Amino acid sequence: MLRKTLKQIRLILSTYPRRHLYLLATGFALMLCIVFFSSMELDSDSSKESLYNQISIVDLDSQVNKDVFVPELIEFKKAEIKRNDSLFSILRRLGVIEKNIITLVNSDTNNLLAQIKVGKILEVEINDSNKVLSLNYIKDFKSGVRAQKTNETYKIEEYELLTEKSLVFRRVEISNSLYADGLREGLPDSVIMDLVYIFGWDIDFIHDIRPGDSYSLIYEEVFVNGEKKLDGDILIAEFLNQNSTHIAIRYKLSNGTSEYFSPEGRNVKKAFLRSPVKFSYISSKYNLKRKHPILHTIRSHNGVDYAAKRGSPVRATGDGTIFFAGVKNGCGNEIEIKHSEDYSTRYCHLQKFSTRIKKGKKVEQGQTIGYVGSSGLATGPHLHYEFHVNGKHTDPLRVKFPNAEPINAGDKKEYIEHANNMLSSLKNYQILTNSLASK
Ligand SMILES: [Zn+2]
Repeated sequence: MLRKTLKQIRLILSTYPRRHLYLLATGFALMLCIVFFSSMELDSDSSKESLYNQISIVDLDSQVNKDVFVPELIEFKKAEIKRNDSLFSILRRLGVIEKNIITLVNSDTNNLLAQIKVGKILEVEINDSNKVLSLNYIKDFKSGVRAQKTNETYKIEEYELLTEKSLVFRRVEISNSLYADGLREGLPDSVIMDLVYIFGWDIDFIHDIRPGDSYSLIYEEVFVNGEKKLDGDILIAEFLNQNSTHIAIRYKLSNGTSEYFSPEGRNVKKAFLRSPVKFSYISSKYNLKRKHPILHTIRSHNGVDYAAKRGSPVRATGDGTIFFAGVKNGCGNEIEIKHSEDYSTRYCHLQKFSTRIKKGKKVEQGQTIGYVGSSGLATGPHLHYEFHVNGKHTDPLRVKFPNAEPINAGDKKEYIEHANNMLSSLKNYQILTNSLASK
């Protein structure tokens, strides 16, 4: 059967002229080719991809050869200044070439970059030949030093961004705690802390606060380019504690410092700190009939003992002059400070004194004068602290401390005017908030 068919085909073909046969064969071969290649493309995606890849690489090469503009690659880097860092070491770490760093640090007004501080931020733009294009030393949210590449040197200059201040009023009624209720009303942490500091001299925030107490205040917010950067200072604050009202107004004195005063010009600070050791607890109170822990006899305890870790700093509770710094029997290493004609304080059992603490030296309130220890007659590390008024022992936990210096005579007239303005601002805000709340 097959042989018969082949024979028939050969017979038909033999009737065609030879030229026609060639054409037919070529056409058939072409058709085979098309079918083969198209099936290859459809079947294998990966071979298709590699084909395209090759094409694109070729294209890129030809572009580079044609000298098409390629922009300079600029890298933006940021570094925090660490201990023992210098401008040189930081830039070296960021990959800047040494020769360029030398050019930069030898530019005019290079002194502006001479004192970079630990913890601050340095922003640098570096080009692809590892040279600095620009540098920004950020001092704080509003100021710093900039260096800009100009031909072969650098232009270094200080800058100060424009700031805007706006006032914020808040009134907080205490139902829980001064802190929690303040946060609930949207007061920032730092502002609450300032408030505690300002009124902490007059109000014991742990024992004196009652539900229903309230406070209102005006504080500043500082903006740069419309962005809030800082919760600033409290300008005025009023605290209603049980039945008493405390008001503190911030004022910049002619000597440049700012302090808080009452509307009459009384300093809100006291002449003495409540406690001479920050992190401590009272281990023994003032007691005129106490049994001495070592001598086991009834001897009055004419001071307060603060238990704290050995080596904890001891602070001068008020401004004054060192009257004695040395060793005295039971007291061990002792410091006595004379604050005024009437007041003096005494600190016992110190581990050691601070450097430069000696008789006749002036000290400021809060200044570290020594460290907690157990020298002299002491069972363990603690500070024995005494408060003398007119030469007599007094219980430091009960004595009513005098106020710190009031506003001086030269500043007083202007202060009273400022205080009245602030008081009426506060009043206006309070009335406005009340009327809004009652609507
Ligand atoms: Zn004691």
